Amino acid sequence: MGIRIGVVGVGYLGQHHARVLTEIPGVEMAGIFDEDEGRAREVASRLQVPVKKSLTELVRECDAVSIVTPTRTHTQIVEKVLSQSSVHIFLEKPIADSLENAEKILSLAREKNILLQVGHIERFNPGLEAILEAKPKPAYIEAQRLSSFGIRGTDVPVVVDLMIHDIDIILTLVNSPIQTIRVVGTPVITPHIDIANAWIEFENGCLAQVLSSRVSLEKLRKFRVFDREGRYFSLNFDTRELSEAKVTLNPGSLPHIDRGKRLFDAEEPLKKELKSFVSSVLSGTAPKVTGADAFEALKVALEVNRLAEESLKRFQQMGSG
Ligand code: NAD
Repeated sequence: MGIRIGVVGVGYLGQHHARVLTEIPGVEMAGIFDEDEGRAREVASRLQVPVKKSLTELVRECDAVSIVTPTRTHTQIVEKVLSQSSVHIFLEKPIADSLENAEKILSLAREKNILLQVGHIERFNPGLEAILEAKPKPAYIEAQRLSSFGIRGTDVPVVVDLMIHDIDIILTLVNSPIQTIRVVGTPVITPHIDIANAWIEFENGCLAQVLSSRVSLEKLRKFRVFDREGRYFSLNFDTRELSEAKVTLNPGSLPHIDRGKRLFDAEEPLKKELKSFVSSVLSGTAPKVTGADAFEALKVALEVNRLAEESLKRFQQMGSG
């Protein structure tokens, strides 16, 4: 049995959702809708998929939709889609621009009994999957996510746009409540925080240090985990290269370190992610990234951002005092 899927919003990322969906067996591309008609027509003719004149027209012909519009529009689009029909939803990350809006999305999804998956794409990176399979007991985590400036994603602070990827991964890895968060951050180009460095301490003693910037000269996506059993994982999300080490302590002599490197296959993470969504819809099983996961990541991201703004205010007051 196949599934009819439509894409709402075919800007930078949505065009790839539409392309990838045409490549997944069992998926019938019902069409695309974008409020920018010219953009919709251009993408539709390039991919040879139907273009729809309205969201209503698209939803009428779908079993599921993928929503890839700017974050501030997510809630209003989910509300409109679900007021028309109980279609399953793949929603890009972050789930929403506020906890209140995220709650609205979660409660509508529950009410309509639909499957909701949120686009925390790094969960489908094979290097991260290998780290998760090893079931580390993290003691210290270091994440660095740096990008050069571009206008996309700047409707929300960098913590909610970029750091939220690492926050979601850290919450997946560390099975403990957060104890304290300390942050420094500053706007550079936008009115929001554009660069932030957070220390997140968990009740079980794990410390995560997370740096995110959208005003850097080069791109970097590094993630390191030191665990309590002497294991070390260092992943480059872009190259999918995972370096691993295991330290064995030998009383009376130097520690022994076993090292290894693995380079993972290049299957497009977006394809894995959307295939996983399709398979969850077809089998009726829970998605790999649930709305509740996305809500938790947003909750921590908003708190990190609030603390960054607070520390910036203190710093500015000191400067003017
Ligand atoms: P974009 O600005 O390039 O594209 C958004 C598109 O949505 C545009 O074509 C716009 O015309 C259309 N649009 C806006 N409002 C609409 C509406 N009400 N109805 C229909 N279409 C509408 O943005 P983007 O960079 O593609 O980002 C889209 C979403 O994807 C955001 O939520 C962003 O956070 C997310 N994103 C996720 C990742 C990831 O790593 N998972 C990467 C990039 C973007």
